[in-house]
Amino acid sequence: MKAFCFSNTLLSWYEKHKRDLPWRKNRDPYSIWISEIMLQQTQVQTVIPYFQRWMKMFPDIQTLANASLDEVLKAWEGLGYYGRARNLHRAADFLVRNRNGLIPDNEKDLLKLPGIGKYTSGAVLSIAFNQKKPVLDGNVIRVLSRIHAIRKKINKKGTKDALWKLAGVLLPEENPGEFNQALMELGAIICRSSQPLCMRCPVRKGCKAYRLKSVYSFPVMDKNNPPQKISTAVGIIWKGEKIFIQQRPLHGLMGGLWEFPGGKLEKKETPEQALSRELKEELGIKVRIFKKRQVIRHAYTRFQVKLHPFDCTILSGHVRLSHAVRHKWVTPEELKQYAFPAANVKLIRDMLKTPLV
Ligand code: SF4
Repeated sequence: MKAFCFSNTLLSWYEKHKRDLPWRKNRDPYSIWISEIMLQQTQVQTVIPYFQRWMKMFPDIQTLANASLDEVLKAWEGLGYYGRARNLHRAADFLVRNRNGLIPDNEKDLLKLPGIGKYTSGAVLSIAFNQKKPVLDGNVIRVLSRIHAIRKKINKKGTKDALWKLAGVLLPEENPGEFNQALMELGAIICRSSQPLCMRCPVRKGCKAYRLKSVYSFPVMDKNNPPQKISTAVGIIWKGEKIFIQQRPLHGLMGGLWEFPGGKLEKKETPEQALSRELKEELGIKVRIFKKRQVIRHAYTRFQVKLHPFDCTILSGHVRLSHAVRHKWVTPEELKQYAFPAANVKLIRDMLKTPLV
């Protein structure tokens, strides 16, 4: 009887069943890098149109480095975790200035680039440069912890280290990049977190969790904290036909994105009171609210936002900015040129349907 070989079995399955994805058309290190960064915490179907648009706008490192941060963030708008886009931009700039626009083919130099950690480095080196480097993302963790029925909590550092080692040991000499992609593909389409398709799994024979009939017990992890609920009030401040927008500080949550001014509601405050207080504290202005818009709700990964938008005009004071990097007065149509957080994007869509001017 033929012995079961995990890597060969997985590779032949992958060859037949892999999805036709735009970043799998070639092994260009730049497109592998972009796709791997976009795919972090984001589903493949969401990434596809972003990736295609990005490669048209910024087909190489040079073009990306020459683009403005606003253009880069606009292309990223809606993908979330904006630090990823800022880091891509910074890394491209660094590579053009210091390395002739070439992506390093070794771990030491790759890890020096902003936004590149062990996972991305392993993916780029194995897929683009065919080097024997492992990857460990959520899919690989799930597959390995089920195959080996790992009972330790996967969010503990010791367990992660052990999984990295295991992912390295499994790597074949030939086609390590294909093997890594096969392992991730298996996790994405067969060994799914809910309703894994064990009956269609090519490596079922070698899977301990399947043998133990306890597939759902793995991976073992701590319960996540529920998302935090936040209520905010924002002002659409009009001056003639223009609206005030400000840019968030570059470093920090959603850094570099544009937003309408406002802030969180404090205990026992109404949204109107919160807005008046925030605009006074933040911009040094007193406003007259003349329209209350429909509440916007949006769920981010770690929090759920309830946004209370109000149209207003300045009653007294001049805009003075304490923390915002830049500000502008723009027409409603011009809002489309700037990148905003997702809840603001919903608000803008609503505004463009019911403009005031
Ligand atoms: Fe995952 Fe089931 Fe395959 Fe085991 S048999 S690797 S649990 S899909």
